[in-house]
Formats: sequence, structure tokens, C-alpha cells
Amino acid sequence: MRIAVVSDIHANIEALRAALRIIDDKRVDRIVCLGDVVGYGANPNECLALICQRTPFIVLGNHDEAAFDLSRLHHFNPHARVAAQWTHAHTTKENQDILRGLALAMDVEGALFVHGSPCRPGEWNYIITREDAQHNFGSFDQAVCFVGHSHVPEIFLQKPAQAKISKLDRTNRCIINVGSIGQPRDGDWRLSFGILDTEEWTYENVRAEYDVRSAYRKILEAGLPRILAERLLVGK
Ligand code: ZN
Repeated sequence: MRIAVVSDIHANIEALRAALRIIDDKRVDRIVCLGDVVGYGANPNECLALICQRTPFIVLGNHDEAAFDLSRLHHFNPHARVAAQWTHAHTTKENQDILRGLALAMDVEGALFVHGSPCRPGEWNYIITREDAQHNFGSFDQAVCFVGHSHVPEIFLQKPAQAKISKLDRTNRCIINVGSIGQPRDGDWRLSFGILDTEEWTYENVRAEYDVRSAYRKILEAGLPRILAERLLVGK
């Protein structure tokens, strides 16, 4: 089975539509979404409707949680806080109920999917360093765990390898960050997602351009902080 793993769409409908077009071309059997469908961008309702149309496999992200529960903003920086309040005010009651119903973690085809980290996923901790990853390998049994949250694509192996890997190794467990659809932060503005092939046991990170100018313009027109538009152009 080929599974497309998308994360951190962040209400960027232009990026989501572009990613889904590529996913359709690549003959994927299933889509799993790692959360943060909403927050930062100008199209939260449209993004939630589209991703729900394409997959039932969606886990909760911290921005999804904030959209229905504003008491959960303590870990948000000032711009994220403004965006979360805007999102809460502009997300329909029905969509807030959908977000409220999302699980924190999900096993699909023997792989684990969470937004931030498998160790206490509701605390929204980041996996940034090798040490963070090592700390988390004890929290799950699967050969691979997919995460998002940092918006930086990365593969963390339990036993470090010298070369960059293309084929996964079932005897060397890994944590894979698929990067972000709607707000990449690794210095590359192009959308990022992953494709896992569970038969071949391969993983591919896909990067692609999208209509970033429209996403940029809509954020400004919505009255969201300017920095949220500017950062899309530089991928930071
Ligand atoms: Zn995010």
C-alpha cells in the first residue's frame, strides 16, 4: 500500500490543492493527515472540508485544538496566538466539532501517526534533535512513526547510519517528519509531504511549488499578521 502523509496544512488551500494533484498522479492508496489542518492561513473551513473529503485518517494538531478550545494557547507565540484567535472566530461550529472529534494518535497499516511526538502526544512536544528522537523511540512499538509539528522534513533513525537513506530498514526503526504542506520552515518555500510504500518499504519526501502568491495575498486581506504571509515566500 502506498500512503501519502501530509501535515501542517495550516489553512493554505492553494498548497493543499497542489499537493492533492501530485498525490493523485502518484497513485496513492491512502492519505493520512498529521494535523494542524487550520491555523495561520486564510482558508480553515475550505481546507478541513477538502481533507475530510479525501481521507478519514486525520489526527489532531495543536492549532486544531486551539480552534475549538482557546484555553489551550499557553504554548503559542504572539503571532500564533493572534492566528489561533482569528481561526477560532472564522471556523464554523460544525468544523470545530469535527476537530474536537480527532484522535491524538493513529495506527494505519502498522505505522504510527501523531502530530508532535509519540510520547504524550497531547503535550505538543517537538522532535528537533537526535536526542529528542531517541527519547521517543521507547514510546511506540511500530517500525516507523510519522510526525509533523516542526514543519522541517527529516528522518531520525534509531541506530544512526552514515549515508542518507532512500530505502527504509525494518530492523532500524525511524521517526519521519514529513514537513509542512502550508507553511514550510526549512528555508525552502515549496510544500512538503511524504509517501510511504508499505510493500517496498520505501519513503519519498516530495517537494513542489504552488500558488504561494494567492495564499500570501489572502492572509493580508484577512487582516492576519503580515509576518504569516511573508514567511510563506521564504519558507521560514
Ligand atoms: Zn503546525
